[in-house]
Amino acid sequence: MKAEILPASEAMERALALLRAGDVVAIPTETVYGLAGDATNGLAVAKIFEAKGRPRFNPLIAHVASLEMAQRVGRFDPLSRKLAETFWPGPLTLVLPLQPDTDIHPLVTAGLDTIALRMPRGFGAALIGRLGRPLAAPSANSSGRISPTSAQAVQSDLGGKIRLIVDAGSTAVGLESTIVKVGQDSLRLLRPGGVPAGEIEAAAGMPLERGGGDGIQAPGMMASHYAPGAAVRLNARSVGKGEALLAFGPDRAKGWEEAVAIRNLSPAGDLREAAANLFSFLRELDDSGASSIAVEPVPVDGLGEAINDRLTRAAAPRDKLPAPD
Ligand code: AMP
Ligand code: MG
Repeated sequence: MKAEILPASEAMERALALLRAGDVVAIPTETVYGLAGDATNGLAVAKIFEAKGRPRFNPLIAHVASLEMAQRVGRFDPLSRKLAETFWPGPLTLVLPLQPDTDIHPLVTAGLDTIALRMPRGFGAALIGRLGRPLAAPSANSSGRISPTSAQAVQSDLGGKIRLIVDAGSTAVGLESTIVKVGQDSLRLLRPGGVPAGEIEAAAGMPLERGGGDGIQAPGMMASHYAPGAAVRLNARSVGKGEALLAFGPDRAKGWEEAVAIRNLSPAGDLREAAANLFSFLRELDDSGASSIAVEPVPVDGLGEAINDRLTRAAAPRDKLPAPD
C-alpha cells in the first residue's frame, strides 16, 4: 500500500484533519522530510516510533510556529532568546528546560525535564500555526536508514505505513538541524547540522562546548534518559513486599493485591497505548515511594522492542549502564 502524496499547496486541510485525529503525516521542512505527530498526543507520538521502527525511545524535536509557542513549552533565558531570534525560522534546535505546566507528552522528551525546540520554515510552520500545537517530528525514514530529502524517498521507505506525504520538492538544506543545549552561561553542541557552529558562536559571543561533559549529549545515550530512583525488576511473575507494580495486559502477577501502587500500561495489551503511558507511569510509581518496581512481561514485537529497551535501561545498575548506540 502506498501513501497519498499531495503538493504542499493543496495538502493543508487534509494534513490538519489527520493530525487532529491523532495520526501522523510526513511533511517537508527545510532540513529533511519529517514524520510529524501532535506533540501533546501520546498515541500520535507512539505512532511515530512505530512507523519508524525505532528500537528505542530517544527524545524528539518539538517543532513550533512562533517564539510565543516555544515559550509556552521551554524556558528561555536571554541567550536562548537571542539564538532563537537570530536563527528562527531555520535549522537550529535549542535544548531548554521544560516548562513545568506544559501539555507536551512525556514520550516526546523521553521523560526528561528538557525539551528540544525548533521553528521550521515553510509548510511545516504554516501547518503548526493552524494546528496551534507543537508537532513532534523526527526524520521520516525507517530507523537506521538515511534521512529523506524528497517525497519520493519517504514514499519508498514509509509509504506502506503512513497515509499522507506532503510534497514540497527537494528540501533546501538537506541536512538535519544543528542541536545546541543551552545551560547557564554555557552552550553545548549536541549535533552538528544545518547552521554552522561558527555562526552560532558569533551570535552568542561565546564558544560552543563539544563532546564529553556531563554525559547527556549524544542521541540515545543512557544518561540522557530519565532514570527512576527505585530499583526496577523486569519480567516479574509476582510482586514482592513493598514493591510497586507496572502491569501490562489483562493478567496480573501473583500477589498484585499487595502492591504499594499499580499502573497498567495497557489493560487491553495494546503496545501503542503502553508506549504512550510508559514514562508517566514509571515516574508515578517511582513517586509512590516503593523501593522497587516490578514490571510484568511486555512482548518484544513492534513498539514492544523500544518499551523493553527503555525498561531494561531503567533496570540496569546505575554504574553498569549499557554502552550508548
Ligand atoms: P531527530 O528528531 O531524530 O532528528 O533527532 C532528534 C535529536 O535531538 C536526537 O539526537 C535527540 O537525542 C536530540 N534531543 C531531543 N531532545 C533532547 C533533549 N531534551 N536533550 C538532549 N537531546 C535531545
Ligand atoms: Mg533521523
